[in-house]
Amino acid sequence: MGGTFDPIHFGHLVTAEEALVQFNLDRVVFMPTGTPAAKSHRRVSPAESRYLMTVLATATNPDFEVSRIEVDRVGVTYTVDTLETLRAAHGPGTELFFITGADAVFEIVTWKDAERIADLVTFIAATRPGYDLGEALQSHAGDAVRFRIEHIEVPALAISSTDLRSRVAERRPIRYLTPEPVCAYIDKLGLYREAV
Ligand code: ATP
Ligand code: MG
Repeated sequence: MGGTFDPIHFGHLVTAEEALVQFNLDRVVFMPTGTPAAKSHRRVSPAESRYLMTVLATATNPDFEVSRIEVDRVGVTYTVDTLETLRAAHGPGTELFFITGADAVFEIVTWKDAERIADLVTFIAATRPGYDLGEALQSHAGDAVRFRIEHIEVPALAISSTDLRSRVAERRPIRYLTPEPVCAYIDKLGLYREAV
């Protein structure tokens, strides 16, 4: 499951857990982005902080792990490179899935080397409040690149990292939107206090 995770929240965690169970996956690997190609317009927190918050949020789940692949890569990172790395590390006997929310499904076609990505993974697209998953899946019906996309329904949590960042900037609570250790870490580092 790729994401900026700035910060990670219960929407990400519940989606990962549902994908794990519904698709009988061995584990979910959270992949915080390095320098995100798509989000260069806003200031993203340091990759190390986003990585650590992801570790804090997933520490109690034995089926969740966090990868440093993108965080450690220098320069702009592309999903296709990460997937090639995972494929090489796990060998041809391992099936790879890419978990996304309904909003991210719209963007898949715009990713670099979409064709290669379609060969490497099956997408698991999750419902997300505010986004129409049916419409997102429909948007790929006429694509030249044939993506394999499964869909899952997850408990609706209208939570976004954007909202968490504004809440911190406005001194409103983020408790119960993300695990306690993440709240504590945000507070300790003074993240998101300035509105951006
Ligand atoms: P931002 O507001 O900064 O874009 P975000 O909450 O969308 O943050 P991302 O890191 O952009 O989080 O998302 C990572 C992945 O998690 C994406 O595939 C996104 O669709 C999915 N996702 C995020 N929040 C939810 C949610 N509440 N329910 C389902 N999927 C979600
Ligand atoms: Mg997002």
